Amino acid sequence: MRGLVFNAPGDVAVTDVPDPGIVNPGDAVVRVTKAGICGSDMHIYNHGDAFGFDAGCRLGHEFVGVVEAVGPDVTSVRPGDRIVAPFWLSCGECHFCKKGLPTSCISGGCFGFQAFWGFGGAVEGGQSEFVRVPMADGTLVKVPDELSDVDDHVLLPLVDVFTTAYHAAKGSGVGPGQTALVVGDGAVGLLACQAARLLGAERVVLAGHHDDRLAIGTRLGATHSVNTKPGNERLGELLGDLTGSYGPDVVIDAISSADSLAYAANTVQPGGTISWVGMEVFLAAPQLPWDLCFLRNLTIRGGVAPVRRYLPDLWPLVASGALDPSPVLTHDMPLEDAAEGYTVMATRAEGSVKVCLTP
Ligand SMILES: [Zn+2]
Ligand SMILES: [Zn+2]
Repeated sequence: MRGLVFNAPGDVAVTDVPDPGIVNPGDAVVRVTKAGICGSDMHIYNHGDAFGFDAGCRLGHEFVGVVEAVGPDVTSVRPGDRIVAPFWLSCGECHFCKKGLPTSCISGGCFGFQAFWGFGGAVEGGQSEFVRVPMADGTLVKVPDELSDVDDHVLLPLVDVFTTAYHAAKGSGVGPGQTALVVGDGAVGLLACQAARLLGAERVVLAGHHDDRLAIGTRLGATHSVNTKPGNERLGELLGDLTGSYGPDVVIDAISSADSLAYAANTVQPGGTISWVGMEVFLAAPQLPWDLCFLRNLTIRGGVAPVRRYLPDLWPLVASGALDPSPVLTHDMPLEDAAEGYTVMATRAEGSVKVCLTP
C-alpha cells in the first residue's frame, strides 16, 4: 500500500510501505478515508531528526476511516464500522484511562510518533491507505449511527485540532458573560474561538498575523479579531475597551512561546486563567513570569487533549449542526500529493490553514 514517510528535515514522500495486518489479538486495521496534516507534523518535518525520527518513519496522527479487519479480542468495532481515531492510543482499562485521561495511558502512544512507542509491533502513521490500530477497543470510537450523513471533513478535526482547542477552552473555565483572548491563528487557535463560544463566552478576541485566517476565525465565532503583526498596541486598546481596562477573563494560548505566555500573564485580568496548548514548548521551554502569576493570582492550565473523553459531549453538537469545525480544512489533496501538502503547511501559503489528504 501507499503511505507517507519522513526521509530527512524538509523531505517527506509517499512511497510503497508494508500492508498492515493484525499483530496482536486486540488490533484492528482501518482503511483511511481522510487524514490530516497537523501543525505538530510541521515540527517533525522541520526538526524530525532532533526528535528521534529516523528515515522511513511513517507520519500522521489524525485520521478517520472504516474498519477493515479486527483481531479476535476486539469487541467494540466490527469490519465496516465508520470510526474516528483519537490521536493517542489508549488501552481503556488502566488507572488513567478509567480516570478520563487516555493520553496518560500506561500502554499508550501516538500514531505517527514511533519514537514515543515502546510496545508490540510498529505504530504506524495515518497518512496512508491503511493503519494498524493496537488496543482498538480502547482507542477507536465508532461514529454514532445518527451521524452517518456527516461528512469526513466535519469529523476529521475532532480527532485532534478541535478537541485540542476544546480542551484549552474547557481548561480556561471560560463561560457566559466572559471575555476570552485567543492567541494564535493556526487551526487550534481558530477552533478555540468556536469552542469558547460553545462554552458560552460572550466576547472572543482572536489575535493572529494572517488576515485570511482571522476571517475564518470570525466565521467560527470570534467576535473581534486583531492582526498583531505590527505589534500588540491595537490589541491592548481593544481589550481595554471591552473589559473596562481589567483585561480578558481568560487567555487561550495556542502558540505557547516565551513571548505569547509572557503577554498572556501581563494581559489576563487578576484571578484569571491562562490555558495553553501550543507546541512551541517543545522547541525551547518558555519561562513564565512566575512573579506576575503569583502577584496576579493567575491559574495556569495546559496539556495534551484527552480526545476520547470529550467525544460523547461533542457528538450531539455535531448532530444538531452547532459544531462544524470543517472551515479550518482549507485544502483537500490526494494522498499522493502529500509532500506538496506539507509544503503548503510549512510555508503557510496564502489562504491555507490546514491540509487534509484523501487516500
Ligand atoms: Zn494533530
Ligand atoms: Zn490505558
